Amino acid sequence: MEMDSSSTNPKQPHPHFVVIPWPATSHMIPILDVACLLAAHGARVTVINSPANAPLIQSRLAAADHEITLTTIPFPAAAESGIPDGCERVDHLPSPSMLPAFFSAAMKFGDAVSRHFRHRRSPRPDCIVAGISHTWAQSMAREMGVPCFIFQGFCAFSLLCCELLHAHKPHESAAISPDEPFVVPALPPPFDACCRLTARQVPLQFLPDCPVPDRMREYREFELAVDGIVVNSFEEMEHDAVSRLAAVTGKKVFAVGPVSLSRRAPSLATADTTARRCAAWLDAKKEKSVIYVSFGSAGRMPPAQLTQLGKALVSCPWPVLWVIKGAATGEDIANNTDEEGDVASQCLVVRGWAPQVAILSHGAVGGFVTHCGWGSTLESVAAGVPMVTWPFTAEQFVNERLVVDVLRIGASVGATRPTGGMMMAGGEEEAEVGTEQVRRALESLMNGGVEGEERVKRVKELKAMAHAALEKGGSSYMNLDKLIRSVV
Ligand code: UDP
Repeated sequence: MEMDSSSTNPKQPHPHFVVIPWPATSHMIPILDVACLLAAHGARVTVINSPANAPLIQSRLAAADHEITLTTIPFPAAAESGIPDGCERVDHLPSPSMLPAFFSAAMKFGDAVSRHFRHRRSPRPDCIVAGISHTWAQSMAREMGVPCFIFQGFCAFSLLCCELLHAHKPHESAAISPDEPFVVPALPPPFDACCRLTARQVPLQFLPDCPVPDRMREYREFELAVDGIVVNSFEEMEHDAVSRLAAVTGKKVFAVGPVSLSRRAPSLATADTTARRCAAWLDAKKEKSVIYVSFGSAGRMPPAQLTQLGKALVSCPWPVLWVIKGAATGEDIANNTDEEGDVASQCLVVRGWAPQVAILSHGAVGGFVTHCGWGSTLESVAAGVPMVTWPFTAEQFVNERLVVDVLRIGASVGATRPTGGMMMAGGEEEAEVGTEQVRRALESLMNGGVEGEERVKRVKELKAMAHAALEKGGSSYMNLDKLIRSVV
């Protein structure tokens, strides 16, 4: 989308924002889009990160029409951190067992960033926008006497649920078995009627077997201490969740998304071979006939579950574009899929990274099977594509409630337990969701009669609202201006 994202007011001040993405691919993507939006709205912007992440950052910032400075500061070396050299992103870790060491290394990285500013090697910021687990950013901001905002990867509704879980702790009630649904207390309408979770489905920080409990406590202290919250969402979609979150936390909350729409219309016509393969295959398919299947930057299913899913995908009547991270599929499935990009094939498999935003906006895509990561969910809304929801972990079960019960733009596959995901063990787990269950959800998504048509109508309306939110005078556009004005 070509859009006018320049400031509403030529007298807009030009404060200096220092943006520090938490080094996980799916967090870096939206916070870098926020950096581009801030620059487009007249702010001066410096992005801070470590050298191994520079190529990803430069590729995202290259699309900005305004200059943004990238400053790299070395990540602690392997000898000091125990993390392999060059592994500077959490989703690149060879094993989840390295997570505690990665968090410690990220704290040392924070010390180096603080020294950088103490020695005045970069111009003084007027505001710091830090990605979720950079808890050290708050004390650095205090030392410099500037506000610190947190960029959250969650939507306002999920953050509100987290606040209410912290306050009321319904998941800790002894009366509740791990699979017995409870209502998240004190939610406003329309959320109150539908937000049921089980103790297994709460976000990671509330789980008794959370692998990094100390870090989660620090993270909570950081959340409580910051001056404001930036979310990749838009007010029209979240009903009152944005204002409720502001009321419950006592903080300013700026919904500035969907930030993926800040970029020029995504295209598959690029030099990237995966993109070209997807484009040729999608171009040969009928409009709205394709099911796109992908579970985020790190979502890996246990092999038994992958097999059940694969059987449903290769036998369904719709063409499928299936993105797989890691594991191989069984022979029976591999025989019915294609990895070369044969345009006549029914099931194209992409291994590794797929150009998701461009795929979702291709006219042939009619549905998205997603793990309900917030980035993917919002990208689907922005493209007007209805979903089959298959949450894995983190706050994805909460997002599923928003998509299925509140917005009514998705059909649940019926997963009730966490699976896969980067932080969870996975491995030999049995499949919870069988092939028939997947088939039923796909049928509902692609051939769901009146209910399906209503779903498509609603998601198209949301798509229009999403685009309007970022256009001049729209809610997210105005919130970006407010964010910039709030620091001068
Ligand atoms: N993504 C992508 N290609 C892939 C996998 C993921 O472009 O093959 C992008 C996707 O568009 C989204 C982000 O990575 O912006 C995933 O974020 P999300 O919050 O959905 O899930 P997470 O990876 O945090 O579980």
